[in-house]
Amino acid sequence: MIDFNNTQIAFSYKSDQELKNAYLLFNAIKNPLLVKLGKFSVNIALGIHFPLAWAVKPTLYKQFVGGETLEECQKYVDLLMKFNIKSTLDYSAEGEQSVEGIQSVFKETLRSIDNAKGNEGIAYAVFKPSTLVMDKILSKASEHKEDLNEEEEKEFEEFKSRFMALCQRAYDNNVRLLVDAEDCCFQDALDDLTDEAMRVFNKERAIVFATLQMYRHDRMPYLKKIYNDALEKNYIAGIKFVRGAYMDDERERATKLGYPDPICKNKQATDDNFNAGVSYVMDHIANMELFIGTHNEASNLTAAKLMNEKGIARTDKRIFFAQLLGMSDNISFNLAKAGHNVTKYVPYAPVRDVLPYLLRRVEENTSMAGQTTRELNMIKLEMERRAHV
Ligand SMILES: Cc1cc2nc3c(=O)[nH]c(=O)nc-3n(C[C@H](O)[C@H](O)[C@H](O)COP(=O)(O)OP(=O)(O)OC[C@H]3O[C@@H](n4cnc5c(N)ncnc54)[C@H](O)[C@@H]3O)c2cc1C
Repeated sequence: MIDFNNTQIAFSYKSDQELKNAYLLFNAIKNPLLVKLGKFSVNIALGIHFPLAWAVKPTLYKQFVGGETLEECQKYVDLLMKFNIKSTLDYSAEGEQSVEGIQSVFKETLRSIDNAKGNEGIAYAVFKPSTLVMDKILSKASEHKEDLNEEEEKEFEEFKSRFMALCQRAYDNNVRLLVDAEDCCFQDALDDLTDEAMRVFNKERAIVFATLQMYRHDRMPYLKKIYNDALEKNYIAGIKFVRGAYMDDERERATKLGYPDPICKNKQATDDNFNAGVSYVMDHIANMELFIGTHNEASNLTAAKLMNEKGIARTDKRIFFAQLLGMSDNISFNLAKAGHNVTKYVPYAPVRDVLPYLLRRVEENTSMAGQTTRELNMIKLEMERRAHV
């Protein structure tokens, strides 16, 4: 039986000082008032180009980010490998909506795919498609494709070429590539492209992975559609499951524009949907691969139990569990210790460019009081355990 409360295994890679720093940090971000103030200050500092690195780098950045460059992240790749955990290096610079910004993200993503080639410590490469195109083009192509004018159509075709070039590079390097999922207003176009890429590049094995946000009530039918397509067109579908990160925005937008809420009716329905998806892919594992991205202890335990019940080996390379760097180490390290395949998303980018990602992590940890309390309790328990040995 896997025990997520084993703090000795969970924090085996952290020194006493690192543990203490993590404690202070989670304690601070538990406080919504402090977080509001922090977010306000960061936005002002960004607006006036005030240098922030001195405040952010030894705190938030150190907890949640691997480094500024691929090369800097290699120390994490090596460290995590000592505990049977592989990395997924994620270039997390966001928000540069300009031709230069898009080109630079594109080039860096290609580098990250090259860096993953033959690197034993790296499980997947990953990219966030909206960083490769202007938002207004992607949302229009998703929701009102017929309204794209000639110039917009050209921009969208260029985006498709970049998208496919990343998949081609992943195929050439034999690297598995995760396509992150985004807001619903972008997702239809991204689903079409990912489906197309899977048909082209997943003939011998899963190279391209679609991400399904299981807080959406339409994702089970979509999953079954992908499976049938894979059978019919003879390819291996790559499926990454997450619950979804944009719930509040989705609901707000649905209300504002007067269309039905795309999100499951409550948390329990999302949880059930997530677990049902995982179980479905395991039942069809001959034609699919599975990436389980969650910090939810029950979902991780359920997935481990299902593998056991369905006779799938813990070491089966088609199934990976995944958490983000700096979060839920008790899940990652204990699953890995039990012999499961585990990967940590290791974000990297210069401090300034990674701030939107960091603010999301902070907000997530503040809004999910349960998650932060759990992290804090685990760290506290381990500090006490170490004090008595
Ligand atoms: C490795 C990894 C990769 C990720 N990649 C992506 C990605 O590509 N795209 C993306 O959008 N997110 C991504 N995420 C974030 C993910 O979608 C979740 O926001 C986050 O992991 C929290 O969900 P959970 O399953 O870990 O935990 P839990 O705490 O069990 O779940 C919280 C989630 O449940 C859902 N939820 C909460 N309340 C309700 C409610 N009232 N009704 C319905 N649903 C509710 C929401 O999705 C919320 O985020 C990723 C996470 C991980 C660990």
